[in-house]
Amino acid sequence: TAHQETHGFQTEVKQLLQLMIHSLYSNKEIFLRELVSNAADAADKLRFKALSDPSLFENDGDLAVKLSADKDAGTVTISDNGIGMNRNDVIEHLGTIAKSGTKEFFNHLSGDQAKDSQLIGQFGVGFYSAFIVADNVIVRSRAAGDDPSKGVEWQSAGEGEFTVKDIEKADRGTEIILHLREDEKEFADEWRLRSIITKYSEHISIPVKMWKDEVPESEGEDGEKTPAIPGQWESVNKATALWTRDKSDISEDEYNEFYKHISHDFADPLLHAHNKVEGKTEYTSLLYIPSKAPYDLWNRDQNHGLKLYVQRVFIMDDAEQFMPIYLRFVKGLLDSNDLPLNVSREILQDNKITQAIRQGCTKRVLQMLERLAKKDAEKYQVFWSEFGNVLKEGPAEDFANKEKIAGLLRFASTENDSDAQTVSLDDYISRMKEGQEKIYFITADSYTAAKSSPHLEIFRKKGIEVLLMSDRIDEWLMSHLSEYNEKSFQSVTRGALDLGDLEDEESKKEHEKAEKEVEGLTERVKAALGDKVVDVKFTHRLTNSPACIVTDEQGMTTQMIKLMQAAGQ
Ligand code: ADP
Ligand code: MG
Repeated sequence: TAHQETHGFQTEVKQLLQLMIHSLYSNKEIFLRELVSNAADAADKLRFKALSDPSLFENDGDLAVKLSADKDAGTVTISDNGIGMNRNDVIEHLGTIAKSGTKEFFNHLSGDQAKDSQLIGQFGVGFYSAFIVADNVIVRSRAAGDDPSKGVEWQSAGEGEFTVKDIEKADRGTEIILHLREDEKEFADEWRLRSIITKYSEHISIPVKMWKDEVPESEGEDGEKTPAIPGQWESVNKATALWTRDKSDISEDEYNEFYKHISHDFADPLLHAHNKVEGKTEYTSLLYIPSKAPYDLWNRDQNHGLKLYVQRVFIMDDAEQFMPIYLRFVKGLLDSNDLPLNVSREILQDNKITQAIRQGCTKRVLQMLERLAKKDAEKYQVFWSEFGNVLKEGPAEDFANKEKIAGLLRFASTENDSDAQTVSLDDYISRMKEGQEKIYFITADSYTAAKSSPHLEIFRKKGIEVLLMSDRIDEWLMSHLSEYNEKSFQSVTRGALDLGDLEDEESKKEHEKAEKEVEGLTERVKAALGDKVVDVKFTHRLTNSPACIVTDEQGMTTQMIKLMQAAGQ
């Protein structure tokens, strides 16, 4: 009658379990963060579903997580009254990894434990982290709205397989019982658990409760009696949504832990910004910039976007409408007072409120980066090396903020003898020569190719700085960036080189003289090359090399042509 079945874990789960147990031993206690985090998510999901069907609460709307330990049995139990799972949910969610990007994740594993454990952190260990400390895990669950007879029990030793069977479960929600490994029994201790909760789950928006024994009646010295306090479940965290609290009351640690809860990242974020916006549109945003790029950053279709709440009720994950794609690395949440509770992705798509919030959030992120660049150039470099290439998509996507984004860009340049991208356009402009009107740059396949291009000879000679660009995206970037701070950009490989006022009278005369000396040469070269070239011209831009190839003013630059060829165009 129990209808018991045994299932094998998906191959990836087996791999993940192996990896986790072996590489996260120094960070074992995170299992509790993950399980509490799931319970909080389950509460969020129930609240959302109950918006359209309040009967799902089954007369029990006090959502909470209960945590207990049994020293003798060596168990820790985490139970919630959230959305719960039915048999199919359990098989699907606790037997496979449904996350997008899973394939990329496994492709990136190197076998080097230190590196891989970092990656696992980024990937998010989730439920399976229970097996770091437990060698037998039992999950008992019943989905909200289902009959008590529709309960399910999942059990596994975390090796190759798990079993599921039908059970009767009166209370809605999920209960997870961890049978601790022999050398992990220390976790079956109330104080230990309490301190882990304080460390990792203070920000969780539902109460995490632990049992407090009865305090017997007592009598003071003066004979006055204090009545007994009956045993009860007592909340060990603040249980208010972090973003609704006052900034000044929130510690850096709490912000960091909250980031880990919503991003599934292991590492602390680089930066956060928490803002309550009032006025025409009212919302609170809490935005984070991670300290490391995810392994699938380049996948523009990757889930991204903010966690959306409406009036403190969780609505959806990955609401991508609130962030432009070039800021897809930003994590965080948004709590709107104006959007309707029944908002859907479709409604968000074409909505004035969405647009206003998106503009606000975009500004916020750019501002946060501007401030960082000013305040802490070193930290900004960390950001730049992780996400700079994504930011370079900005000028093409976000016309309104072009100038701001341009100000955040960093380049290698002839000013430094290094491929490090550290030069801002403001730096460049501050070093411009008298009479220089343009910002000169070159794009090439590599830093070395850019640096040693013959096109730079005349600039070196005249001491004019040139930005050296060699990232794949640079060509695209520069085709959307025509000026910054009223200075236009000029590729040094394009068309006729006009150095404007930088050209002095004397050298102009010299050039004319030189041109006379080789009269007829360009015609002969042109005849020899035939239709391989559009034109052959005399130039003064070279000082050491005899000749170089350029594209005409309107045409694509050589680098762009290569890019298009690579893309199969
Ligand atoms: P994630 O939380 O990133 O989705 P997890 O591995 O932590 O990944 O959990 C996997 C899935 O299992 C969750 O997405 C959820 O569907 C389900 N799940 C886990 N714990 C619970 C719970 N306490 N209540 C309901 N569903 C849960
Ligand atoms: Mg989780």
